[in-house]
Amino acid sequence: MRTPLFAANWKMHKTVLEAVGYVRELGVLLKTVEGVEVVVAPPFTALAHTAEAARNTELEVASQDLYFEASGAFTGEVSARMVRDAGADYAIVGHSERRRLFGDTDEWVNRKARAAIGAGLGAIVCIGETLAEREAGQTLAVLDRQLRTGLTGLTSDDVAGLVIAYEPVWAIGTGRNATAAEADEAHRHIRARLVDQFTAQAALKCRLLYGGSVKPDNIADLMALDDVDGALVGGASLEPAPFFEIITRGIDVARV
Ligand code: PEP
Repeated sequence: MRTPLFAANWKMHKTVLEAVGYVRELGVLLKTVEGVEVVVAPPFTALAHTAEAARNTELEVASQDLYFEASGAFTGEVSARMVRDAGADYAIVGHSERRRLFGDTDEWVNRKARAAIGAGLGAIVCIGETLAEREAGQTLAVLDRQLRTGLTGLTSDDVAGLVIAYEPVWAIGTGRNATAAEADEAHRHIRARLVDQFTAQAALKCRLLYGGSVKPDNIADLMALDDVDGALVGGASLEPAPFFEIITRGIDVARV
């Protein structure tokens, strides 16, 4: 019912030339698969060129962040409309690196998500607990808080089109992914909270991605879970071949 989605978060990697080369290579590989949505998130500097290179492929493009104000004296920031104008289809908001290193709060994540949706972008909202929060038994409470505040003001229609990425902070870039049981618990919980907060129909349409040290050899166990609809991939997405392998192994499981 939900189309699997795989998103590559390149973080602060790739020049324009490197991004375009990647898109050409992955674009060819993607001709052999169907029934899947694939998104790459380049740095802002490569957004327009990446979108242009992706134009005649199955690939879509996301920004890694945006700023919620429409325009003004916000040196260094980029608005949702600018991201859309550069050719992006989606915007990632609330990535844990933004939260941890740059101070993004749940309120800011909410304003960014609403700005993205308002500009016609699909929003990919990242949530997830730190290791300290998990060890303190607070994982589900943290997810509740991030969902409650992060999705404030969104309609059920917005949520039906939304993508939420569950990314336990301790799993990002560490090589230690969540076990299937840990991911299952979190994803089921997120879906149940969406049912409480919005309509059941919207909650069932919202796609939930897992993120955190996804690799070709662990994607199958994660995609086998009912409430995992795809993955947000960092390190293993920096080259087209392993990212494509994650996609093909993932959709093989999703089809069963
Ligand atoms: C991420 O950056 O969202 C991510 C999940 O990174 P990695 O796959 O490298 O853990």
